[in-house]
Amino acid sequence: MKRVEAMTLWERIYFPEIFRGLIVTGGRFWRNLIVHILHQFGLAKDLQAAITVQYPDERLPYPETYRGRHRLTLKGNGTVQCTACFLCATACPAECIYIQAGEYADDPVEKYPIRYEIDTLRCIYCGLCVEACPCDAIRMDTGLHPANWGFSRQDFVENKEVLMERSRQLEAKGKEVLYQEHVRRYQHV
Ligand code: SF4
Ligand code: SF4
Repeated sequence: MKRVEAMTLWERIYFPEIFRGLIVTGGRFWRNLIVHILHQFGLAKDLQAAITVQYPDERLPYPETYRGRHRLTLKGNGTVQCTACFLCATACPAECIYIQAGEYADDPVEKYPIRYEIDTLRCIYCGLCVEACPCDAIRMDTGLHPANWGFSRQDFVENKEVLMERSRQLEAKGKEVLYQEHVRRYQHV
C-alpha cells in the first residue's frame, strides 16, 4: 500500500478539512436521529440507524473464536496440564508470561510450573501463547473480556491459581454464568 505522507495545499489550509469532518459527523448524527424518530412512528423500518450497545446491561454475542481471558487447563486429577516448557513465554510478543519450572518428585522427566503468571496489562490478547502450546495447556476460550478493574499493577497479574480456578469455574458453571458474574461488578458502578 502506498502511503501519502505529504499534505496537499487544501489540507494545509486546515479549516476546510475541519469543516469537512464536521459535515460528515453531523450528517451521520442527524441521519441517525431522524431514522430513529421515524422508527418510533413505525416508519422507514427498512432503514437501519446506528445503535449504541448499552454495555454492561446489553451486549452483542461474541464469536466462538473470541480470544478472552486465559485459563490453564487441568488433567483428569485436577493438577495443571502445563509442563513448563516455556514455549508460550518464548512466543509471546509482549513478554508478559513468567514461568518458574519445577520437577515432580516421582518423575524425573516431566516438569510443572511452580509459578505461572500473565501480566494482563502487557498482554495484547494475540493468542500466540495458545498456538505455541504443544499440550493444550493454555486456552483463551472463556468468553471473558479482560478486566480493567484494579488499584495496583499486581491486581492485573493473573497467577497459576487464578488461571487454574478459571478452568474449574468454566467447567462447573459454563460460559454464560461466568460472563454474568464477570460483568456484575461493572453493572453496579
Ligand atoms: S495472548 Fe499474546 S500477548 Fe497475551 S500472553 Fe498470549 S502470547 Fe502473550
Ligand atoms: S502453557 Fe503450554 S507452552 Fe506454556 S509452558 Fe505450559 S505447556 Fe509450555
